[in-house]
Amino acid sequence: MIYLDNAATTQMDPRVLEAMIPYFNTYYGNANSIHAIGRQVTVAVEEARERIAAFINADPAEIIFTSGGTESDNAAIKGVLSATGKKHVITSGLEHHAVLHPIQYARKIGVQASYVNVIPTGCVKSESVKEAINDDTALVSLMHVNNEIGSINPISEIATVCHERGVIFHTDAVQSVGKYPIDVKAMDMDLLSASAHKFYGPKGIGFLYTKAGTPCTPWMEGGSQERKRRGGTLNVPGIIGMAKALELAVSEMETNRTHVESLKNMLVSGIKERFGTRVAFNGCMDSGCYYIVNISFPTDSDQSLDGEMLLLNLDVEGICVSNGSACTSGAIEPSHVLLALGLVTPTAKSSLRLSLGKNNTAEEIQYTLEKLEMVVERMTKSLS
Ligand code: PMP
Repeated sequence: MIYLDNAATTQMDPRVLEAMIPYFNTYYGNANSIHAIGRQVTVAVEEARERIAAFINADPAEIIFTSGGTESDNAAIKGVLSATGKKHVITSGLEHHAVLHPIQYARKIGVQASYVNVIPTGCVKSESVKEAINDDTALVSLMHVNNEIGSINPISEIATVCHERGVIFHTDAVQSVGKYPIDVKAMDMDLLSASAHKFYGPKGIGFLYTKAGTPCTPWMEGGSQERKRRGGTLNVPGIIGMAKALELAVSEMETNRTHVESLKNMLVSGIKERFGTRVAFNGCMDSGCYYIVNISFPTDSDQSLDGEMLLLNLDVEGICVSNGSACTSGAIEPSHVLLALGLVTPTAKSSLRLSLGKNNTAEEIQYTLEKLEMVVERMTKSLS
């Protein structure tokens, strides 16, 4: 099997698994218990928190452990809206549903939302954010790297614009943590979401960086864990695994990037050679992130190639890719990201996302190019 869906999730690094194993049954205490068995675990969790904080230049107390990206995004958006009592939020149509849906919920209870313009490369300009801010703006939430098209927002510039007007800035950095250097202080972040399974760590664990002093009402209430900012028994093996995964991702970042970037270049030039003008690259292949390639097959007629069928045909050939479509009420809906980018529905429906990771090889890319060509030719013939 060839796995080219690393933006969906990554294969856990064996060194991460090894670090986690003792925390399933040898060190099984509850990190909040004050007896000896609990204390062993508390020490390990706090060490992991310190290491995670150091990797992004945060203070340990600014790291709140969550169940992943979705929870971190929900906690940031709902938490800030509730704590500030302000009634306006700014985002874009290209965000992940983990941001868009909490904002939809907020709209139902009287919050106004502005969706700023996105330029054709898939990025938001800080000037557009500046124009959208008003006196009642509580929060701007814009992602760092887009999970479907790989576009990269100028988040530091956007944070500056927000801070000039006293507005809190949240970024969903689920696709960039572990892939790009993150320094929350230099980048001037208030809230930043991360998820371990995107950087070769375990699923079901993530964190929300919350700059000290940021008003954010706890979203998950219960016990007094995480300094009363997130109730619930800590996922100790997950936390240990996330710290190990981030340590590896940071120390091996340059090696991984060089390797993955060369595979991406090979994939992009192979696609261009084979399909020429029949293929469109969504987002910007030059300024976008180094591991996501999103293509579609536009046509003048409404008889476009069907991305879902493309995906299934590649699956038969042993290649796992994705397209951003979602299955809603039994119907396949095209990716909201591609529609927000201005693609017409048939083109959006003909899209494929190939996302590369450190375990991929040049042979796999070569094989994928051959099979992609074969499948596209076969499907094109059956259309005519
Ligand atoms: N935000 C982005 C940009 C993502 O790519 C994802 C995962 N697809 C999430 C949030 C949700 O993260 P999780 O799967 O950890 O809930």
